[in-house]
Amino acid sequence: MINFSHLAEKYQTPLYVYDFDAIAQQYETLKEAFRARKAIMAFAIKSNSNLSVVQHLAKLGAGADCVSIGEVRRALLAGVPKYKIIFSGVGKQDHEIKEALESDILFINLESEAEFERVEMIAKELGLQARISIRVNPNIDPKTHPYISTGLHGNKFGVEINAAKRMYLKAKKSEHLDPVGIHFHIGSQLTELEPIREATEIVADLVRTLQAVDINLKFFDVGGGLGVTYENEVTIDPKEYAQAILATMRGLDMTIICEPGRFITANAGYFLTRVMYEKQNDEKRFVIVDGAMNDLIRPSLYSAYHKIEAVDNESEKSPADIVGPVCESGDFFAKERLMPRLKHNDLIVVYSAGAYGFGMGSNYNTRGRAAEVALEEGKDRVIRRRESFDDLVALEKEFLL
Ligand SMILES: *Cc1c(COP(=O)(O)O)cnc(C)c1O
Repeated sequence: MINFSHLAEKYQTPLYVYDFDAIAQQYETLKEAFRARKAIMAFAIKSNSNLSVVQHLAKLGAGADCVSIGEVRRALLAGVPKYKIIFSGVGKQDHEIKEALESDILFINLESEAEFERVEMIAKELGLQARISIRVNPNIDPKTHPYISTGLHGNKFGVEINAAKRMYLKAKKSEHLDPVGIHFHIGSQLTELEPIREATEIVADLVRTLQAVDINLKFFDVGGGLGVTYENEVTIDPKEYAQAILATMRGLDMTIICEPGRFITANAGYFLTRVMYEKQNDEKRFVIVDGAMNDLIRPSLYSAYHKIEAVDNESEKSPADIVGPVCESGDFFAKERLMPRLKHNDLIVVYSAGAYGFGMGSNYNTRGRAAEVALEEGKDRVIRRRESFDDLVALEKEFLL
């Protein structure tokens, strides 16, 4: 059991806490599921980009999936070897492409024909050959929330099969491109295996077609998206996930790349916040806490469910909205949630806050971002200090007249 009261006392609230042992366990579970093959687990940095989290995973052997050059820099800074770093994303700027090529990372994932041209041109200017992969959009409905679905033609991600084929043929002829991989990522918080199996089959078929014209790719990148349990979702078993992919890839001698984000960190993270006030408007009960949507926006943005508990409080429960102090009606963590009677300074734990939590945070309402703390083998330590007012105005102060 994690001693939340002790941590809140020691580091103050609002506070993010990450259980590094749980992160390691998730990583090892997935890695183990793919044991039969050469495989790289490339942690999706955007899900939790704290340097110490990335370093922890790098030490276990993880790679990194990055969606900006900033994330590539983070991965390198945290000790991820360059040959395990990949760079994805629909809109890479020229300077990002240039730096990625100069950094000599494993490959760049191309998401359009226009981007193909840019990368080729920049590689030519630098006088080198860019290792590339193409993100294929297999047009599969991942059956998840529309905001986190990415594998349908109606989404902005990837290119359709025929365009991908054309691009590979062009890349093979290019002096400045080296097609080494193929990529797909159909969505996030996937809880059904079938869409993944279908997507894998489509992409594996394309790999075979390419082999027939002597384009031999080395990396088969299946993206991320493995779902986790926030409330009572039944999720995909990692072993079955790996088996489905491995079975579909029979006969293909390729290294598998997985890009798990949420699966690794979501349930290893906790957000601690203290009650400021209780308030009753007619029939409606509000619990006002010191954390807010600027700390954890998932409930506001995706109507996401997070389990919430009051620490050491067995009093009778009644429904309440748990809200932050930000001046937006969308600033809530839960609505009509059964909560015990609460008073000033009572501690509340928001579960499953390790992915897309801190990283999606902002300074809205001039609120400094929370501190982040790691728990490892029974010890706790700060991995990001709380932002101060001085931090918040540092980039503006010098421009005052
Ligand atoms: C966001 C993203 C991931 C990680 O998704 P999770 O649902 O957190 O596993 C992996 N790959 C790409 C390309 C992504 O954009």
